This record gives sequence, C-alpha cells and structure tokens, in this order.
Amino acid sequence: MSEFDDLLAANAEYAARFSGSDLSGRASRGLAVVTCMDSRIDPLGLLGLAPGDAKILRNAGARVTDDVLRTLVLAVYLLGVERVLVMPHTDCGMSKVTDADVHALTQEKGVDTRSLEFHTVPDQQAALRHDLTRIRTTPFFPHPLPVGGAIYDVRTGQLHPVEL
Ligand SMILES: [Zn+2]
Repeated sequence: MSEFDDLLAANAEYAARFSGSDLSGRASRGLAVVTCMDSRIDPLGLLGLAPGDAKILRNAGARVTDDVLRTLVLAVYLLGVERVLVMPHTDCGMSKVTDADVHALTQEKGVDTRSLEFHTVPDQQAALRHDLTRIRTTPFFPHPLPVGGAIYDVRTGQLHPVEL
C-alpha cells in the first residue's frame, strides 16, 4: 500500500488499452505553451491539441522564469518549437497573494522561505506583458519567434487574447 496505489492501478488500465505510440519527442504543431499548475486547466483540451502536438511548461502563475527560458531554448533548437503561447488564467492563486504573504504563511509553520522567489502576480496583465517581453527580448531565440499571450477563463473555458 502506498500513497500512489490509485495511480498505479489507473496506469495498469491505461497501459492495457494503450496501442503504442510512434510519436516523436518533437512538437508536431510547433507549439510551446507556458501555463499555470492550476488543476482546472486542460492545456491540450482547451487548445484542440493531442499528445505529441505541443510542449507544455507549467509552474505557479505561468511565469517566464529562468528555467522556463532555459526549457524554451531547448524546445526551439531541439524539439521543433516555432511559436510560444503564454497562458495564465483567471482566479489564479498567484494573483491573490504577495511573496511577503507566502513568507509570512510559512513562517507561522516555522519555515523560512525567504530565499525563494515565488513570482507572485499583483497585476496579471502587467505580469503577462512583462513575461512576453522577456521571451521576445532574450538573445537566445532565432528571429522571428512568434510569441503570444492570452488569459484562460476557468469559469467559461474561453481564451482571451492579450497579445496575439
Ligand atoms: Zn494559477
């Protein structure tokens, strides 16, 4: 018995139905999506994508961090990515707290997180435009690399372009 038994059981059923895959690791639609870890988001489903189509990068708040940039560089040069969509969402937990709030919360549990930057989002539109600019101005991508931003509405399923 483990905390993961439900997942192993589900995978056994999945693998029994799995017909094998001849997909490569390249993104066949040439797309990378940067989105949030929020459990309400189905990135493939909401964009009409299937496994094999796109690289999906997820973190808290859909922020373009150093590690996201690193991953995008690899995705562009090694894995067929030719366009990037940055897609935060409505009702994001990251827009409801500040880094100071999180540090205070962990402090109550006796944990010091001040060495971590959480990249919380006081202004979602401003953060998204900042992150798009970060991708567009990095010297590491070939030009032109189409980069777009849109906010996903978790209540309606609609995508609202910010810069597309
Ligand atoms: Zn979120």
